[in-house]
Amino acid sequence: MTALVDTNLLTDLKRYGAANVSACFSCGTCTATCPLVSNDSTFPRRMIRYAQVGMRDRLLSSKELWTCYACSECSETCPTQAEPSEFMAAARRYAIATYDRTGLARAMYTRPAIGTFIGVALAVLFALFMYSGHGPQSVGSRDIFGFIPEGLIHNLGIAAMVIVFAAGLVGVATMARAVSREAGVSLRSVLGSRAALRRSAGALWTTLAVETLGQRRYRNDCLSDAAAQPWYARRWFLHAATMWGFLGLLAATILDYGLSVAGIKATGTPVPIWYPVRLLGTVAGILLVYGATMLIVQRVRGRERSVRHSTSADWTLLALIWITGVTGFALELALYLPGAPAWGYWVFLFHVAIAMELVILAPFMKLAHAVYRPVALFFLALAATPETQIKEGA
Ligand code: SF4
Ligand code: SF4
Repeated sequence: MTALVDTNLLTDLKRYGAANVSACFSCGTCTATCPLVSNDSTFPRRMIRYAQVGMRDRLLSSKELWTCYACSECSETCPTQAEPSEFMAAARRYAIATYDRTGLARAMYTRPAIGTFIGVALAVLFALFMYSGHGPQSVGSRDIFGFIPEGLIHNLGIAAMVIVFAAGLVGVATMARAVSREAGVSLRSVLGSRAALRRSAGALWTTLAVETLGQRRYRNDCLSDAAAQPWYARRWFLHAATMWGFLGLLAATILDYGLSVAGIKATGTPVPIWYPVRLLGTVAGILLVYGATMLIVQRVRGRERSVRHSTSADWTLLALIWITGVTGFALELALYLPGAPAWGYWVFLFHVAIAMELVILAPFMKLAHAVYRPVALFFLALAATPETQIKEGA
């Protein structure tokens, strides 16, 4: 297979944060150090080599790019301070920007001022759009959907989901095609027979249940973290709490809407704390806010090497998640406080605008790893299953 050489690759990657990678002289210490390296997945040295010789396609089609959890152990041991961990993070940003055809991700990653402007402008636009259709603020009882009509939010949400789905699908399809080619995985070997389907189902289980929800590799990555930190402050737990919280809130929102459609409970109607959907939302919200707050605190302190270098992309994502979680609780407070304070309406408007922004920007920022990583893990899980299973069952 011929590989095209991109002479600008290294320069490009430096714009995404791989500032010191030219210092690498390929000694391999980082690969020997990385807790996630196995015989058939050697990184980060191989990735750095691809970048140095301009093998852009090889770099972008490497599933290992997404299996690194930025623990920085490789950077600790690098004799030339080439910061291989920073390189891996920069290469993931570069990949997200490359898969995005709109150019928005590139602008947000390489021009922090423009990224900040886009973030603020989008939130303001969402808020103004919703406010343009506003109704009265009821006094004495809280009627948030009398203020901003539920139908308006619903339609805006649908529009945001369509954009996200279209942009995300193009990126994921491009990435999956590149990785599957490199890994020698064809559609037939994934879906072509009952044995292939069994193998794919097993890989899917490993990807979604064991790795994504269970965070197995992340927990292994954090073994060195274990001695230094209590469990509730370890990187894998904070990442998991934020992710579980995010998914829990998504599930609670969908369930609440489902109850409304089924005519069981109108959205926004006050219910007791133990009402299942509210309970799920409250627990998920606590996890989300806890995880995001701790991740922000660790980045501000910068004690661990893994969080010493933060980019605007890191801050933007954490800020949007944190604001969404905190304003969600503030809204809950306003809904259940006696006297129904008027500030609740403005918190509601702000909360929905930021949540919409978080959703619509997902394919263009760091949050995109929530899809790219499981795709890469799926191919990794497939590679770990003996091909003979297909042949035997075919
Ligand atoms: S990044 Fe550092 S440790 Fe890794 S191969 Fe290069 S010089 Fe060696
Ligand atoms: S940051 Fe951690 S997981 Fe990633 S390559 Fe370095 S040692 Fe491995």
